[in-house]
Amino acid sequence: MNDRVYNFSAGPSMLADEVLKKIAEELTNYRSTGMSVMEMSHRGKEYLAIFNECKERLRRVMAIPDDYEILFLHGGATAQFSAVPLNLMKNGKADYIITGNFAKKAAQEAAKFGQVNVVFDTSEENHRRIPDLSELRFSADADYVHLCSNNTIFGTEWQTFPDTGKVPLVADMSSDILSRRINVADFGLIYAGAQKNMGIAGMAVVIIRKDLISADDARMPVLYNYGLQAKNDSMYNTPPTYTIYVLDKVLEWIEELGGLEEMEKRNRLKAGLLYDYLDSQSYYLPHSEKSSRSMMNVTFTTPDKETDALFAAKAAERGLLSLKGHRLVGGIRASIYNAMPLQGVRELIAFMDEFAKGR
Ligand SMILES: *Cc1c(COP(=O)(O)O)cnc(C)c1O
Repeated sequence: MNDRVYNFSAGPSMLADEVLKKIAEELTNYRSTGMSVMEMSHRGKEYLAIFNECKERLRRVMAIPDDYEILFLHGGATAQFSAVPLNLMKNGKADYIITGNFAKKAAQEAAKFGQVNVVFDTSEENHRRIPDLSELRFSADADYVHLCSNNTIFGTEWQTFPDTGKVPLVADMSSDILSRRINVADFGLIYAGAQKNMGIAGMAVVIIRKDLISADDARMPVLYNYGLQAKNDSMYNTPPTYTIYVLDKVLEWIEELGGLEEMEKRNRLKAGLLYDYLDSQSYYLPHSEKSSRSMMNVTFTTPDKETDALFAAKAAERGLLSLKGHRLVGGIRASIYNAMPLQGVRELIAFMDEFAKGR
């Protein structure tokens, strides 16, 4: 593992060395079964043990109350942009808060199925901030309120969540789930694509309060149907078996380190170092407002586009990879999810300082 790079990709992204080692050990012959997890029937007892362990671990790690169901579904977070309105828009109306590109995509998809009321939109400010809770006016009769807890592309993150009363709060947590402690009971539904903090691509995890799951609706596409999926324990068809196995390994790693409190401590330290450096100088310009900064995706620019490109190329020569910002923001984005070691952030800062001084 000594030729590993620091991969700052927004997703798919880094896995911890310890996780990769365990996966490698079990790759060709899982615990003397004579086969790889990739080859196992999803209904066999070895695989079901992995599946159940993963669900139990997730419930433990996130302290998910018993009145919430956990679903492992195909199609990544994007499939949930459709599934959420399909299942939850009972009266045909929902509130959406647009704080970035994924939040906007979710709202656009929901508008195919019902009336979308945009509660707040930070587009005009190039999504530099999260609205203040006092700026939000929700509709009284919405089926749910949707927000994106961490804006992966812009580098902003909700620090506290609005209280939506009886209206369920739905959150796309694709890029900050498992990074900090959240109170699951504050949400009606949480969903997240797995390829950022939960392992590898191919799945969304859905955590849904049971009373929001409708009885099986015959016209609903089967794979998007929460009722049917819950009834079949996410095995209406073959689930993304290996992705679930990797999630189990990631959760095991988190538990061994001390759970979400420890993750949050590490993430605060890493992001804090990077933001402190950004605030201490004037060469790089941070994108997001201080009060809205993401612990997961740190976005900034160099003085011009050519220099952004040069920065990313020079960093890559040092083993600091995928630092180019998303095309919508430009500049640089350092994604520092749970698996990014502190040393990776230290080396990035050292490189940034050297690069700035050489200009
Ligand atoms: C990456 C991401 C998505 C898209 O995830 P897919 O799994 O590619 O569909 C959606 N929302 C957020 C916040 C993301 O970071």
